[in-house]
Amino acid sequence: MNIVILGPQGSGKGTQAKLLAEKFNLDHFDTGKALRQVALLDTPLGREVHEIIMVKKELVPSRLLREVLHIRLNDLGREQGIVFDGVPRNVEQAGYFEEALQEFGRKVDRVIFVDISKEESLKRIGKRFSCEDCKEAVILKEGEAEVCVKCGGRLAQRADDTKEGIEKRLSIFREETMPVIEYFEKKNLVSRIDGAQSIEKVFGDVLVSLGDIA
Ligand SMILES: [Zn+2]
Repeated sequence: MNIVILGPQGSGKGTQAKLLAEKFNLDHFDTGKALRQVALLDTPLGREVHEIIMVKKELVPSRLLREVLHIRLNDLGREQGIVFDGVPRNVEQAGYFEEALQEFGRKVDRVIFVDISKEESLKRIGKRFSCEDCKEAVILKEGEAEVCVKCGGRLAQRADDTKEGIEKRLSIFREETMPVIEYFEKKNLVSRIDGAQSIEKVFGDVLVSLGDIA
């Protein structure tokens, strides 16, 4: 089973990907995390990725993302299912993503689109903090202390979580990633899930939508 999970910032797609990985014993390909892991390697690829994401703080070009994807696919047995979180981000990536899967005897079985409105995204991300020590991500509710429940570290709001930053990322999602969803919709592969519900309800809908393949 190869599942792609897409959604705008604040949709909770990462949480849903984690839950799916646990439920079906899937490998969780978190694109950001995979790139950060490669950036630690003392190899030409590792050094190049490090330079781009840690030093220049830019998005990696498709060529590098493709290499990172290949490394992961090469490491996994063909029977090992994968949930892809944060890829493909644009139509160009969707093309080579499918090619790469095909090369390894895989295909996209389902695309889960966790949909939330712009207002809901802004509301949720505005409350998003992360621990300065263990990096745990937390959504703070009104009146809660800014302390990490895991390690007691101090919680800080992400620097790019300003209203302008969030709106910019949301418009990139609309302009670049929505066409990916349309691309997969033409292949009848998309399940659109209402992401404005509780985590449990969203996951319930995800499971129902996978009923025919899970
Ligand atoms: Zn912590």
